[in-house]
Amino acid sequence: MNNKKFTIDKRKCIKCKKCIEVCPVASLSFSPEKNEVEFIKN
Ligand code: SF4
Repeated sequence: MNNKKFTIDKRKCIKCKKCIEVCPVASLSFSPEKNEVEFIKN
């Protein structure tokens, strides 16, 4: 997946983590340290 086609608007993200649950290629993770959703390499 090309990450440039998917972005997270951090001002609007409510950290519900639904995107992590439904991502078909498991490219998202929640970082407790940053307190935000981030892209991961897989
Ligand atoms: S955690 Fe994911 S699905 Fe939930 S608001 Fe943030 S970007 Fe959207």
